[in-house]
Amino acid sequence: MTDLFSILIPELEKEDAHFGAVSVDGSTYVIFALPYFQLQAVPDGYAFIDSYYIASNRAYFLRKRLCGMLEAEGFETHTCEHSYKHIAAVTGLGVRLRSTLIANEAFGTRMALEIIGVKGVFAKEITVSELYRDYPLSEKCRDCKICETLCPQGCIHENSFEYEKCTRHAQDNCFFSDEKSAKAAGTNLWGCDICQRFCPHNTHLPKRELNEEEKELFKLENLFNAFSFGKKGCEPYRDILGGNYLRPARLLALTINVMANSKNPEQYLPYVLKAECHADERVKAAVERFKKK
Ligand code: SF4
Ligand code: SF4
Repeated sequence: MTDLFSILIPELEKEDAHFGAVSVDGSTYVIFALPYFQLQAVPDGYAFIDSYYIASNRAYFLRKRLCGMLEAEGFETHTCEHSYKHIAAVTGLGVRLRSTLIANEAFGTRMALEIIGVKGVFAKEITVSELYRDYPLSEKCRDCKICETLCPQGCIHENSFEYEKCTRHAQDNCFFSDEKSAKAAGTNLWGCDICQRFCPHNTHLPKRELNEEEKELFKLENLFNAFSFGKKGCEPYRDILGGNYLRPARLLALTINVMANSKNPEQYLPYVLKAECHADERVKAAVERFKKK
């Protein structure tokens, strides 16, 4: 059988990935991180869609391809049931942050993680309790509370994180607990970058402006038209949103929420009125909220 790492390393290096490995309970977990360049805050008239999802999509397909290569060489691959963050910490791929994210020196928090599980022990072996020991916070977090201060939903605290209040959780469930939370999501359609944008772990990283294709795709009117057209209309967002692009009603409701939070909501009224009779309750609730603006 060919050596596991002689198959994986050349492929991961081609993708500029950082990686590490550890063996737990008779399986080896190869974790890799793909970097991405984040968008700056978007101008008025556009929605913010986190570039993380593009990298996450790439990482997902890279993992699938690498698993296929390993299976062809006789390895048995499987998904990872362990916490990605603990595997990142134990392999040295990243450090734990107050914002609950993981950062690595080169990529900051701007990386998408994936793990390939392989039956057999091919890396340093540790016990499950060693994997789940409490890893210290990054030294930078000790005297910094930037994310805690800036989080618009107030979910980051000294020793805890309230994920159910986070904008990303609200987007995933298409449910904002109240007007304050819906407003705090601002023009973030999918993802919320605020706790990462000013994090000292990311200050060395370049930010980019919307490219021409994104200018078309992230314009509020175009998002509304695309998501109103169901799954077919969502097709151009496949690589940008990953598996989430197949949720048109949820994306339409979130777009209406962003329209309501924009500087001039009244310019979007003719669009939003078209969604008044939409069958989906989440869209109807978003229309009602918009009308109160
Ligand atoms: S903003 Fe500061 S406290 Fe928050 S994760 Fe970054 S370094 Fe840590
Ligand atoms: S993603 Fe946004 S809402 Fe969630 S913790 Fe970060 S800043 Fe707060």
